[in-house]
Amino acid sequence: MSKQEKTFSGLGVSPGIGIGVAHVRESGVIAVPEYCIPAKYLDEERVRLKDAVNRSRRQIGRLKAKAKTMPGAAGEELGYLLDAYYHMFKNSRLVRGAEQRITDERINAEMAVQAEVAEIAKSFSAMDDAYIAARLEDIREVANRLVRNLTKTPVKAFSQAPKGSIAIAEEITPADAAQLDPGRIEGIATLLGGPESHTAILARSLGLPAVMGASGMIQVIETGDRVVIDGDGGKVIVNPTPSTLAIFERRQAERLLEERRLARLRKQPAVTRDGTRIGLQANFELPIQMDMIAQSGSGGIGLLRSEFMYMNRDDAPGEEEQYRALKDIVERMDGKPVTVRTLDAGGDKAAAAVTGVYAESASSALGIRGIRLSLARTEIFEAQLAAITRAGAHGNVRILLPMVSSISEVRKAREIFSRVVKRLRRKRMPIADPLPPIGIMIEVPSAALSADALAQISDFFAIGSNDLTMYTLAIDRGDEQVAHLFDSLHPAVLRLIQFSAEAGLRARIPVSICGEMAGDPRYTALLLGLGFRELSMTATSIPRVKQRIRSMDLVAADYRARVIMDQSDAGRIATLLDDFNALA
Ligand code: PEP
Ligand code: MG
Repeated sequence: MSKQEKTFSGLGVSPGIGIGVAHVRESGVIAVPEYCIPAKYLDEERVRLKDAVNRSRRQIGRLKAKAKTMPGAAGEELGYLLDAYYHMFKNSRLVRGAEQRITDERINAEMAVQAEVAEIAKSFSAMDDAYIAARLEDIREVANRLVRNLTKTPVKAFSQAPKGSIAIAEEITPADAAQLDPGRIEGIATLLGGPESHTAILARSLGLPAVMGASGMIQVIETGDRVVIDGDGGKVIVNPTPSTLAIFERRQAERLLEERRLARLRKQPAVTRDGTRIGLQANFELPIQMDMIAQSGSGGIGLLRSEFMYMNRDDAPGEEEQYRALKDIVERMDGKPVTVRTLDAGGDKAAAAVTGVYAESASSALGIRGIRLSLARTEIFEAQLAAITRAGAHGNVRILLPMVSSISEVRKAREIFSRVVKRLRRKRMPIADPLPPIGIMIEVPSAALSADALAQISDFFAIGSNDLTMYTLAIDRGDEQVAHLFDSLHPAVLRLIQFSAEAGLRARIPVSICGEMAGDPRYTALLLGLGFRELSMTATSIPRVKQRIRSMDLVAADYRARVIMDQSDAGRIATLLDDFNALA
């Protein structure tokens, strides 16, 4: 008997239709490394276990909140089970026993967890009771989650998935997403994650349709099931009937046609109807995007997120390795500007190799992340600055500092940069000449509000509307539960954007915007009206934004932006903007 069609609703975070065969990422056992811990590092190892326990509890907490949104008995049942797991992470024999083993046996935390589970299993099996056997399964589940969080090894993200797969998982981290092969994966569906998360950004930049926050699907979808991902409507359809499949196949074909039509704009300039030229640049996340960027008709790379060089590895990349990677990119851009953002590790972009002792702090949105981490780990920062400056000898490079929140950070970064340049000159290394300009991301409210002062010591501004929205509205961009509240049209966010842009323009430094707003044609008129003449976005968004620019009168957009900036209600702002767009 064929399986029944079922639809799960979530958030469409990356547009398009993906049709394929489900590959559900097992949340089960992974290979555990085994090693001895020298006595002086035992404390650190116990802290590592504690961090993994806290992280596991946070994950279970999020899953519990999610289960509450599921209708009927299934959600309730799952809620009870997750409650039990949550408590097991608190003070169970498993956690206590593992901690004791680290101390007594001087073994690594993963091994300690495994050894404790084996011991518990032994004592349970002596009882020969079905209820106890089921509890053992729960303990194993908890232990596996703990080990996954300890090793932080990306569970080789869907590397076994055959061509034509739909990746299904509880959560896909940006490090996992960086390993997805768009040649084999047709779409993504997860239970956790929001539209502004870095995983969603990666899905969009790889052109993979994606739905996040789809409750209930994990329990139902099995590897091998046929699945449709509707990234526009936020739907995951499992075992579609032939008629449903035909509808989505048609939509997929229509989309392809539309993309081909838009591709013809590639060689056309991004000029408004009244003659103002707008610079459109591409955001870069992974080398695999290079062809797409080269074909997008972009005027350069406006944001190179350098985290790809630091993810999924145990050691930090050295200067030479980074130099070679960047040189390749700079050469391929053939003289067009490449804005390399220094490491923005932290938040959901964990990079174990560099966060080191700051791992716990870096995982917080308010912790040691971005420029703070670079200033705390100057040896890593220096290697990166040297690599960028050397790559600048092969083209046109700019340096961009992320998560700046105060002037002193920029001063310190500049001092370190001067030291690096001196060293490179002493060694007679070929470097960028003139030296790369140093700009800053404006993505923290304190930076936006000090933009006039920051403009005096920055060579350019790049506005990061994703984080600026998150920090201004106190909304976690990766949490699907609050995704509906994430609104870059909130007057508070717009005022900060306007204030920063005007401060930069007054100081006559280049100002661009590179958050997700820049790639959404809905916002183009407003951004141009606020004074932006440089937008940087996912390469796949360039044709649509260009089309919007070419259909627009800048004088009218300016006037509409002024009307919008007089409003104090986000709903009214949205209506004024959408009405203006509808006239196009
Ligand atoms: C932003 O915050 O808007 C931004 C462009 O940086 P990221 O998305 O990488 O945090
Ligand atoms: Mg940011």
